[in-house]
Amino acid sequence: MLKAIQILGSSSSGFVSQIWRKGHSPLAFSSSAGARTRISTTPFSPRGTRCFRANRVYATGSKSESNPDAVSSSQVAVQSAGNVRKIKFCQWCGGPTKYDIPDGEEKMRAICTVCGKIAYQNPKMVVGCLIEHDKKVLLCKRNIEPSFGLWTLPAGYMEIGESAAEGATRETWEEAGAEVEVLSPFAQLDIPLIGQQTYIIFLAKLKRPHFAPGPESSECQLFSLDDIPFDSLAFSSIFVTLNLYIDDIRTGKLNFHYGTINKRPGSSPSDMCAFSLDHHLLS
Ligand SMILES: [Zn+2]
Repeated sequence: MLKAIQILGSSSSGFVSQIWRKGHSPLAFSSSAGARTRISTTPFSPRGTRCFRANRVYATGSKSESNPDAVSSSQVAVQSAGNVRKIKFCQWCGGPTKYDIPDGEEKMRAICTVCGKIAYQNPKMVVGCLIEHDKKVLLCKRNIEPSFGLWTLPAGYMEIGESAAEGATRETWEEAGAEVEVLSPFAQLDIPLIGQQTYIIFLAKLKRPHFAPGPESSECQLFSLDDIPFDSLAFSSIFVTLNLYIDDIRTGKLNFHYGTINKRPGSSPSDMCAFSLDHHLLS
């Protein structure tokens, strides 16, 4: 299950950066990447009219008054969910913590005042599957918040004790009732800063042609690439993944993609106008 959110970030300096705009000319890239990684030199043409409208808002720095669709009740929730929750008590002994910079480190940490242990907070891993079947992809309509009623790939948080591929397979079973075989990794998308999430999406195929919505989905459906509901996707990470996949299919070569999604502060998880894909690398 994917409960939380890709969140907001400021644009980071990097070797590759692009902001999606309709009709944008080939994007200017500079690179410090290693020899085994190549940089996309083709313009990325995202689908979805909502994104195009939103990018104007993003580009001008305007508030969303000009785009009422971007304002929703979930927006507030997203903002608050984006903050790192303070750890007040030690998870080992229950003692109160204090925030300080431990010797040899640079960041503030929650340190137990009783047993002295340090509570490290790290990003969460979200794993999922992009399932190909008869030149279509399998999407699930969310039956839970956030992004209730919007479409997503089956994905969710990786559990302790499982591999990323096992987690993606499990989430696909839970959300889409589908038994899949993972074929290859397709994308790693970091959502840093407030988001603290990394997505790993695998290409997968159905072991048998059966799927059915689980409790977290109201509907599951195979979509041809021309019919993907880009105006009704739940998360920017899914929007990016599907766009990259379609571009790869159309160029005849499936790549592995890495990128960083930077969200505009205050935007909702399903606002496809309020983020940029930075550091896009493919191999
Ligand atoms: Zn303690």
